[in-house]
Amino acid sequence: MIVDVAKQITDEKIIPCRAELDEKEEFPSDILLEIGKADLAGLYIQEEYGGFGGGIFEIVLALEQFARGCVGIATSFAANALGTFPIIIAGSDEMKAKYLPPLASGEYFAAFGLTEANAGSDASGIQTTAVLDGDEWVLNGTKQWITNAGEANIYTIVAMTDRNKGARGASMFVVEDKDPGFSYGVKEIKLGIRASSTRELIFKDCRIPKDRLIGRKGTGFITVMKTLDNSRPGIAILAVGLAQAALDESVTYAKQRIQFGKPIISFQAVQHLLADMAIQNEAARALVYQAAKHISAHPKDMSKASSMCKVFATDVAMKVTTDAVQVLAGYGYMREYPVEKMMRDAKILQIYEGTNQIQRNVVGQELNKEYNK
Ligand SMILES: Cc1cc2nc3c(=O)[nH]c(=O)nc-3n(C[C@H](O)[C@H](O)[C@H](O)COP(=O)(O)OP(=O)(O)OC[C@H]3O[C@@H](n4cnc5c(N)ncnc54)[C@H](O)[C@@H]3O)c2cc1C
Repeated sequence: MIVDVAKQITDEKIIPCRAELDEKEEFPSDILLEIGKADLAGLYIQEEYGGFGGGIFEIVLALEQFARGCVGIATSFAANALGTFPIIIAGSDEMKAKYLPPLASGEYFAAFGLTEANAGSDASGIQTTAVLDGDEWVLNGTKQWITNAGEANIYTIVAMTDRNKGARGASMFVVEDKDPGFSYGVKEIKLGIRASSTRELIFKDCRIPKDRLIGRKGTGFITVMKTLDNSRPGIAILAVGLAQAALDESVTYAKQRIQFGKPIISFQAVQHLLADMAIQNEAARALVYQAAKHISAHPKDMSKASSMCKVFATDVAMKVTTDAVQVLAGYGYMREYPVEKMMRDAKILQIYEGTNQIQRNVVGQELNKEYNK
């Protein structure tokens, strides 16, 4: 049912306008509202808060379809989940009751703010601070490259509450779009996923109520790690949906394009290219599905599975989309055909939510621990 609904939205709403939204760098508000109306916004939110009550596997199924249409649009949906996970993972019952129902219905939209100018892979370098003043936290600092910034209603952000405590000195907070002292930077101009919105979050003596602290003070990085472990299969499946779309375009084209009096698919060199694209993506899909199911079943042991599937699937998508441009050759390089956008969109998947080098570090560290047991 999830796949059918997501597929219909993709075919009828996303694919027809993806090139225009990419060209105009326009945020897909209407499509995201459609997704909400179709009851897909709360796939991963518990039923008691108005959600579908699913887990990572359910969101993966929807994201795979959306990414087949447009990774920019799918990224906006994925980042909404990313911004919501900290509340699901560590929020109090009162916080969940306040924010999850409007997020589940699609009325609210979320974003996740960790990265700063000098803190990318090394999140421990964040400079944003939160200081308790009476019944309010006062935030100061700037977050960079935040997906959905300027479009979301709520932001789950990380700030230092005690610098002397190192990794245990960070905490997470919910910031609402209308909070005093909170504003956005200009929209970034990007290589790909241009339908998504990427901006700075700027906090200048931004005052928020005391109860916007997510979980306990000092647990910010723990919540961040759990959040990313949950969300990375979502990025991995964007890669699978994207690579599937690139393969579909390539096979269709190869059957139609005539050179030397024959469709180019009759040349073994082209067939092998297509075969490798299909084999690699089928393997990636299997790994992501398995990781998504593993995460739901083993919430305390998810880092390795989550990072493995992100690395593998996103590297596959980069290769498959590049090969798709090769199959379409000169036509593939032109904006008139969708594969050049697919290749541009693929690159970010190897970068955001932790670069693929960092994912390999995680897998390596987990192996080291496993073999010490
Ligand atoms: C379009 C876009 C959207 C984004 N959306 C969000 C968002 O919604 N929220 C958010 O918080 N952030 C977001 N980000 C930030 C993203 O997660 C970071 O860009 C990413 O984590 C990498 O950080 P960096 O770009 O500063 O690279 P750096 O950390 O500066 O890395 C540079 C290079 O060094 C390598 N490197 C660094 N450290 C190591 C190491 N220890 N071992 C091996 N290699 C290493 C990296 O792999 C990379 O190749 C977004 C970024 C982009 C571009």
